[in-house]
Amino acid sequence: MEIFKTPETLHAWCADQKRQGFKIGLVPTMGNLHEGHMSLIREAKQYCDKVVVSIFVNPTQFAPNEDYDNYPRTEVVDCEKCEAEGAAAAFLPAPEVLYATDASTWVHETELERGYCGAQRPIHFRGVCTVVAKLFNIVQPEIAVFGQKDFQQVAVISRMVRDLSYPIQIIRAPIVREADGLAMSSRNAYLSAEQRVKALSLSRALFAAQKSVAEGERDSHTLEAAIRAEVVANDWLPDYVNVIDSATLMPIEKVVPGASAILLACRCGGLRLIDNVLL
Ligand code: AMP
Repeated sequence: MEIFKTPETLHAWCADQKRQGFKIGLVPTMGNLHEGHMSLIREAKQYCDKVVVSIFVNPTQFAPNEDYDNYPRTEVVDCEKCEAEGAAAAFLPAPEVLYATDASTWVHETELERGYCGAQRPIHFRGVCTVVAKLFNIVQPEIAVFGQKDFQQVAVISRMVRDLSYPIQIIRAPIVREADGLAMSSRNAYLSAEQRVKALSLSRALFAAQKSVAEGERDSHTLEAAIRAEVVANDWLPDYVNVIDSATLMPIEKVVPGASAILLACRCGGLRLIDNVLL
């Protein structure tokens, strides 16, 4: 596997691969790779010949009070995992290599970013879109894979791709969970043993809601109230719990099976987890 640290060297390699007729796929990550990330690499391989994994803790998507400095960085092991999974290249730029100190240009999707995580993290999606746009320009992939785990993120990126006419197919890969249901996340490492047990209430509540819908429940408020009650009983405080239209992300009153989802974010002692299910 090739390892690149600068945009120029990665861009030249990608251009060469394309000249040779290879189709390139991109999997953007912040590293500390787990099985969820690996599933994205496997998914990408279904669609292309050469998978490029970026490993970059992107400073512009973190607010000053967030965990940028403490975010787990495990680059050596991450590269080993990428190689074992069959990635062709990894991109690990230093922040000052990717961003000029006086950078003043942003990519900002302004509609789908407004609720949910975007409402609580005002600069977050502007940072995500800007770094993903930069990666798209450097790699020029034909496909890029993002996880359903970050449901709003895939929606925002898909909108950016449409609005800016990037000739890139966005693929949304399913959430990979621990055996007990907890959605895998690099931030799970921050959980204490007790928080870890109680965090199971998030996925448990979402699965129970899915089951209610399968049994005929359609009322969003009933579903949301049951989820809130379950997580609150386990000391997790909901930032938001919303039944939404999966395409527009707008809250809806009644579930439309096949076109709805439930998004949630919960806090517990300074930690914040997100999860979602399709309905
Ligand atoms: P991150 O490193 O947290 O920025 O995530 C990089 C990519 O991996 C994003 O597209 C995430 O949605 C995706 N991802 C993170 N956790 C999971 C998971 N449990 N299952 C599937 N994809 C995931």
